[in-house]
Amino acid sequence: MYQKGRAWIELNLNNLSYNVTQFQKLLPASCTLMPAVKANAYGHGAPVIARELENMGITDFCVASAGEGIELRNAGITGQILVLGYTSPRQFSELSRYRLTQTIVDFDYAKQLSESDGQYDVHVGIDTGMHRLGERSGNIKTLRKIWNFSNLHITGVFSHLCTADGASAPEKEFALKQIAAFDESVAALKRHGCTGFKTHIQGSYGALNYPELNYDFARIGIALYGAFCSPSDETKADIRLRPVLSLKSRIECVKELYPGESIGYGLTFTAAKEMKTAAVSIGYADGIPRELSNRGFALVNGKRAPMIGRVCMDQLLLDVSELSHVAAGDEVVFIGKSGENEIAASEVAASANTISNEILSRLGTRLERILVLG
Ligand SMILES: *Cc1c(COP(=O)(O)O)cnc(C)c1O
Repeated sequence: MYQKGRAWIELNLNNLSYNVTQFQKLLPASCTLMPAVKANAYGHGAPVIARELENMGITDFCVASAGEGIELRNAGITGQILVLGYTSPRQFSELSRYRLTQTIVDFDYAKQLSESDGQYDVHVGIDTGMHRLGERSGNIKTLRKIWNFSNLHITGVFSHLCTADGASAPEKEFALKQIAAFDESVAALKRHGCTGFKTHIQGSYGALNYPELNYDFARIGIALYGAFCSPSDETKADIRLRPVLSLKSRIECVKELYPGESIGYGLTFTAAKEMKTAAVSIGYADGIPRELSNRGFALVNGKRAPMIGRVCMDQLLLDVSELSHVAAGDEVVFIGKSGENEIAASEVAASANTISNEILSRLGTRLERILVLG
């Protein structure tokens, strides 16, 4: 059997296809999934995830940068790839060479792109209140002028919700305001003869909390990987998702720590009684936040073991005093299942004061990726 190394990611692609099906059932039949596979597919590995999605019949993807789009083309992805972010003029020629669809971040950008040699597929970003990218939704005159650039083929118009995950009344109100602003600009553009484009506004939480919306695409990221941003998130849609990724490592050695002795860099943890400790071969360079020092947990042989001392770059320390059977070589689970116990990415994120998106997208490059069945 293949012996897994010091620290690795396990990917369950059956769970990915399960999650895809859940979203296809949730959303109107006319809405096509456009999975967000940016940031190396949220740490999962973009080529393997995108290929699997393509095998499932997915034909549209979104990424953050032209470089990520090129990586997908080189991995054999043939469908539409929308670059959600800025591409510098230096890379304009690659947009056509690799048939990438570029986001128009505002009117000036459309002008700049149109003045370069080449034909471009583009989606026009409309700012409905997040004030990040897009031409303002009220500026119909300016928006219409983008349709005059004959070398820009406008195949989509989209916006982005910034409070879709919120359960409070003001957050819901703001999301509905954004949706209304988007609908109004789309209608105004069509009245003026700007037609033939697809529309999209939902990310994961837009789909989970506003599943009744009827747009052509839904740009689902985090939820497709089976993770919620935070453990406390409740959504309107009642769907169960299955985590695609597990994060695992191994115990390097088990030692005693005697009363009064301290452990790790800066000696930040001191034993009050005799303890059993384990050094584990994973650290912050692999994506375990240093913020989890003296506060995170891992699973060893089905039991929870607290992190003690500071998380190091390549290693960390666990209190394994409560475990009767523990030895060098044992598997340690940071995200995923061990026996009856499970740690979700969102739990790790909450202990580190962030969201699972950040934990997953910052997983280190030296982790091995292994496909598992299940
Ligand atoms: C990242 C991103 C998404 C996907 O967001 P999730 O919340 O992970 O589903 C969708 N749209 C835009 C514009 C994004 O930047």
